Amino acid sequence: MLILGFESSCDETGVALVDASGDATPRLLGHALHSQIEMHQAYGGVVPELASRDHIRRVLPLTDAVMAQAGLPLSAVDAIAHTRGPGLAGALLVGSGVACALGMALGKPVIGVHHLEGHLLSPFLSADPPQFPFVALLVSGGHTQLMRVDGVGRYELLGETIDDAAGEAFDKSAKLLGLGYPGGPALSKLAQQGDPAAYKLPRPLLHSGDLDFSFAGLKTAVLTQVKRLAQAHPDGPATSHLADPLTAQQKADVAASAQAAIVDVLVKKSLAALDQTGLQRLVVAGGVGANSRLREQLNAACARRKVRVHYPELHLCTDNGAMIALAAGLRVQAGLADLAPGGYHFDVRPRWPLAELSADTAV
Ligand code: ATP
Ligand code: MG
Ligand code: FE
Repeated sequence: MLILGFESSCDETGVALVDASGDATPRLLGHALHSQIEMHQAYGGVVPELASRDHIRRVLPLTDAVMAQAGLPLSAVDAIAHTRGPGLAGALLVGSGVACALGMALGKPVIGVHHLEGHLLSPFLSADPPQFPFVALLVSGGHTQLMRVDGVGRYELLGETIDDAAGEAFDKSAKLLGLGYPGGPALSKLAQQGDPAAYKLPRPLLHSGDLDFSFAGLKTAVLTQVKRLAQAHPDGPATSHLADPLTAQQKADVAASAQAAIVDVLVKKSLAALDQTGLQRLVVAGGVGANSRLREQLNAACARRKVRVHYPELHLCTDNGAMIALAAGLRVQAGLADLAPGGYHFDVRPRWPLAELSADTAV
């Protein structure tokens, strides 16, 4: 069963071909990605209309590249998957439009995939795939959730952020330091030169006793810290960017302190979720799952508790087509996908809580 998957929910156009034959763990046969980050950087964030137009420009050449990598013609594809939601409506419509058109032309079924299910299941494409059941820490640009996962489509929300996502906390702190957009990876790199204990930043909800998160206050605390350092500078406060008067070391210290605050909370709550569920396996997914401090601290804490921890491959932490083709493949293998060709009405769901995706829903 060969599945061609399209991801276009935000600012990455991803296409991939996955082999999900029989019961074997699906295999990636081809994978191509175009990130629009550079295009949006000038605006400090994603511009939806530009995102949609760029998906249109990229999706077919990427598809050709994937089929060439796999050495197969499009006619070899058995099913087509696309991100149905959540995400930007116009951007999602590009992926679903292309998937439906291709499905109709080839007479093949089209499977609409939940973007977060893609993130959640992405470690199944790693060299060390997890086994069910597990606790999942989903940490992306728009979501921060802890889930109990008992199988494909069996997701129970244990806790989530009440305001900003962890990725947003990285990005907003990075922006305050003048590191561009999205600044998560840049902040993480700068933090390597800094002292994580240099500045005392809040760890919101650390002792709340539940599995919820809150990161909005951290952004304010970072802002206050940057302002304080800028004002203390002999040349006075900022000229063009608030963080300009800071020394390189001060910036690195703020980055390291902010990263430490975010990671501390993510680690503590993940361990609490393992305690609460009694499970022995943790899966980390989403863009922030690429963060090296988070990985180091989780690896150390989980080793002490004899808990197995699984991550997606580094390049599959952020958005990509492979996770979409994979999620469709795992649904097909679990008998949870409607494989009847037809009904190519490309509907998308820009807002779509994962909780609404129950196991018995044929997508
Ligand atoms: P969602 O999946 O919730 O709709 P998204 O698709 O935008 O959001 P992802 O692509 O999973 O999110 O992840 C992007 C986020 O991950 C950004 O906020 C980015 O800054 C962050 N990120 C990526 N790499 C790192 C890193 N090494 N350290 C910290 N954050 C990172
Ligand atoms: Mg992105
Ligand atoms: Fe994502």
